[in-house]
Amino acid sequence: MSKKITIAIDGYSSTGKSTVAKQLAAELGYVYVDTGAMYRAVTLYLMRKMIVTDTNFDEEAILRQLPFINISFVFNKEVGYGEVHLNGENVEKEIRLMEVSQQVSKVAAVSQVREMLVKIQQEIGKNKAVVMDGRDIGTVVFPDADLKIFMTASTEKRAERRFNELKERGDDIKYEDVLANVKERDYLDTTREDSPLIKADDAVEIDNSEMNLEEQFEKVLKLAKDKIEE
Ligand code: C5P
Repeated sequence: MSKKITIAIDGYSSTGKSTVAKQLAAELGYVYVDTGAMYRAVTLYLMRKMIVTDTNFDEEAILRQLPFINISFVFNKEVGYGEVHLNGENVEKEIRLMEVSQQVSKVAAVSQVREMLVKIQQEIGKNKAVVMDGRDIGTVVFPDADLKIFMTASTEKRAERRFNELKERGDDIKYEDVLANVKERDYLDTTREDSPLIKADDAVEIDNSEMNLEEQFEKVLKLAKDKIEE
């Protein structure tokens, strides 16, 4: 049997991390973990309670709610990966709404939220054979990951991809708003004090601005296979 490794894929919003991470996990027979979905699910919970809104961000209330938030993944055979559940409810679709994107990076800057989610991530990945995507996987969650990839692409390309994705889903959305959101999240994610988005020294950087999905996948798969055979 071949060696099982831990693969960390980090990078900016809308770089196509999750698409390539999902494909890679399926190809290798590994577990895929979308850590952004976990931050989004916590944000959705807090938004439903009106603790986090456009005009309200009550950090003490957030901390009081944390013990009541349960985040888990339930494997869905039809899509081939685990979908995120918030207190037992499948919220995979709702967490992708623009309203959630607009609040999530503020919630993700709260240390206690990170601590709670990082623990779950480390538990899921403790036996290796995992592909995890996020912002701090190679730096904080699995600093000893066997393979670390850092994905980048130009801001405009990323906004364009996210815009097309949301449009295809039928969302009524303006490109300018998506671009503004991508820029704002970049700013919040890279400047927060706790676990800012930063490339790990030993991560392989891939700029996929000019790559299609197949090219990107081939490149990542080769890196993974080389590591597994090392
Ligand atoms: O990956 P996705 O864009 O869905 O992540 C949503 C947000 O969650 C990010 O913009 C970031 O603020 C936060 N996040 C994080 N750490 C992770 C994954 C996501 O702070 N490991």
